[in-house]
Amino acid sequence: MSSSNKLQFIVDERARLEREGLLINIRTIGSPQGAWIVVDGNRVLNLCSNNYLGFANHPKLKEAAARAIESFGVGPAAVRTIAGNTVLHAALEEKLARFKGVEAAIAFQSGFNSNVATVPSLVGKGDLVFSDELNHASIIDGCRLSGADIIRYGHRNPQSLEQELGKHYPPGSRNRALVITDGVFSMDGDIAPLPPLVEIAERFDAMVMVDDAHGEGVLGRGGRGAVDHFNMHGRVDVEIGTLSKAFGVVGGFVAGSKIVIDHLRQKGRPFLFSSALTAADVAACSAAVDILETSDELVQRLWSNTRYFKQRMRDAGFDTGRSETPITPVMLGDVKVAQQFSRRLFEEDVFAMAIGFPTVPMGKARIRVMISATHAEADLDLGVEKFVKIGRELSVI
Ligand code: PMP
Repeated sequence: MSSSNKLQFIVDERARLEREGLLINIRTIGSPQGAWIVVDGNRVLNLCSNNYLGFANHPKLKEAAARAIESFGVGPAAVRTIAGNTVLHAALEEKLARFKGVEAAIAFQSGFNSNVATVPSLVGKGDLVFSDELNHASIIDGCRLSGADIIRYGHRNPQSLEQELGKHYPPGSRNRALVITDGVFSMDGDIAPLPPLVEIAERFDAMVMVDDAHGEGVLGRGGRGAVDHFNMHGRVDVEIGTLSKAFGVVGGFVAGSKIVIDHLRQKGRPFLFSSALTAADVAACSAAVDILETSDELVQRLWSNTRYFKQRMRDAGFDTGRSETPITPVMLGDVKVAQQFSRRLFEEDVFAMAIGFPTVPMGKARIRVMISATHAEADLDLGVEKFVKIGRELSVI
């Protein structure tokens, strides 16, 4: 062994994360997803999964996955463009396009990959991306990979977008411009003001992309997403979705016009260079779309649970930030308080994670509660009761 200390930087970085209370503690789940799950051996109330509609352990999805494994086996054995493209993939994409009310859709291995595939397929060196300052990390990475110049505009701020477009992309510019926003912002649960953002982008002839990872299955008619919520059909060039949250499985997709989706089949690097989603995943996602097509009962339940929990938390004196959706941040400010709060909740059999920098800005630490259609009213009552108990203990309320 040499006396090299080339890895010392990792030891130093870990010490810094620990010192500043930023070290991520990864817990281990020992049960299916649902309102109650087993975490590190304890049965706890689950207030932090993205399983909005309960599809992650839904009997119809499990049955579809099992049938697909019987027919197609467990692995795709190739990327889509070589030998990994099955009839199940094609069927899912058709169903997603119909559900979203667009011409075409393409499935990727994750929402993250969907963003990383899409941005560099639309813009490149010399082009411009106008990106909401709180957009998701996968959008930021997609923008960086594209090589385009990245201009951040103020969070949910159409005036700021207009100013930046005017400054950097005056009419007559030869290059391309792409405006990107999350539909629902994942840490605050607020919704992008799509009508003015799209109207401004149209005036400047810029393309528009909406990442609706947290709007899919939540907003719009029967969970058709943020574009449907604002009735902006045909005016958003690309919608990004994930299959891992409301859809309950894993994967991502892009929905839009046929010309854009065909282009992604030629250019989207994760599509070309990473193996396909498995048959089981794809079949389970198709079953989720089928359920959403036939009934909005689960979406309605998600929203009534959301309204109930938020009202009770606000009545108890908690600050739930600017959330307009089931994502309910309980704002605490200091990351150490948030971590202590989360630890105490866990001791009281409630699983809700603290979120700190760099996922949210410094000084804006919070517990992020995720409401689901799987919660019974008694579960939500218990959650509020424990929040109140610990909130008083830590002098937060
Ligand atoms: N976009 C947003 C806004 C997200 O919240 C997430 C999930 N964390 C993703 C994209 C990535 O989705 P996936 O987990 O399917 O990769």
